[in-house]
Amino acid sequence: MPELRFNVITKDWVIIARERAKRPDQFALPKKEELPLPQFDPSCPFCPGNESHTEPEIARLGDNKGWRVRVMPNKYPALSAHGERTRSNEGMRISMNGVGLHEVIVDHRRHNMVFALMPPPDIEAVLRMYRQRYEECRKDERLEAIIIFKNHGESAGSSVIHTHSQLAATPVVTFQTRMRLEDAIRFYDQMGKCIFCQTMEEELSAKVRILHESKHFIAFHPYAALSPFHTWIFPRRHTPSFELATDEELVDLASTLKLLLARLYYGLNDPPFNYTIRSIPSRDRNTEYYHWYLSIIPRVTKTAGFEMGSGMYINSALPEESAEFLRNVQFPNHT
Ligand SMILES: [Zn+2]
Ligand SMILES: [Zn+2]
Repeated sequence: MPELRFNVITKDWVIIARERAKRPDQFALPKKEELPLPQFDPSCPFCPGNESHTEPEIARLGDNKGWRVRVMPNKYPALSAHGERTRSNEGMRISMNGVGLHEVIVDHRRHNMVFALMPPPDIEAVLRMYRQRYEECRKDERLEAIIIFKNHGESAGSSVIHTHSQLAATPVVTFQTRMRLEDAIRFYDQMGKCIFCQTMEEELSAKVRILHESKHFIAFHPYAALSPFHTWIFPRRHTPSFELATDEELVDLASTLKLLLARLYYGLNDPPFNYTIRSIPSRDRNTEYYHWYLSIIPRVTKTAGFEMGSGMYINSALPEESAEFLRNVQFPNHT
């Protein structure tokens, strides 16, 4: 019989479709027979030498060979960096002008670099840039929420091959975020502890969904994973915002993230994925009830009418089996 599981953090019900469940290796994509990409593509706006083809640079991390990570506004931004936040409520018509930030973070200078195969120090440089942008964006009083994310692969929404991440900062806190925050507050009020710390503690004792434990991070599939291979990385230290991560934690996060993405790359043949950092909205930084984390969503199945019509998910993989599968994926050293 299928089993319904409740995700206490997202408040989603998930149908774990045991009977329809596939074995974890059945989610692997067919091996790709593509021509290898060049190290440099003269038509790529993110390649070194083509900097003038992008919007003016906002920030960079460099070394003696040039830039390592580079940030600029998105050429086709969803939100405009200019103007004030103004709101209009006319009866039931509520609107606001679209101020906010939409930035591109180029992860690496090499055109053919695959993020999952990057040496951990290069991933660490990207994470340091994320933290720097968080710190900067928080100073902008027009912004309420900062979202850093990566789309990898066309079906995950990426249109440029050269590896990059994005930052979007919005003038509102969305209903989903607000609801999760309020619920985390309620849990804190009732139980006197953080819902994320409690989840982590229970996952550590259950062990079956753990993917990796490092000094500062725990990676696992949630008990009610919303989709196959849905992965959370929680910092062990209770901190509400990503920008409070220490240098030592970022070094650890880089190797943890690399390990998980490389296992997906080798175990499932480079699946498309999204990851996003869920941090507290920019105004409340020091709180006991919220705990930042990174969520990885491999795009190995599609959501459809049922999910849209119900707000409920069907997951055709058993998180315990997927975790066991991923723990056993071996990959070569990329240093
Ligand atoms: Zn390029
Ligand atoms: Zn916590």
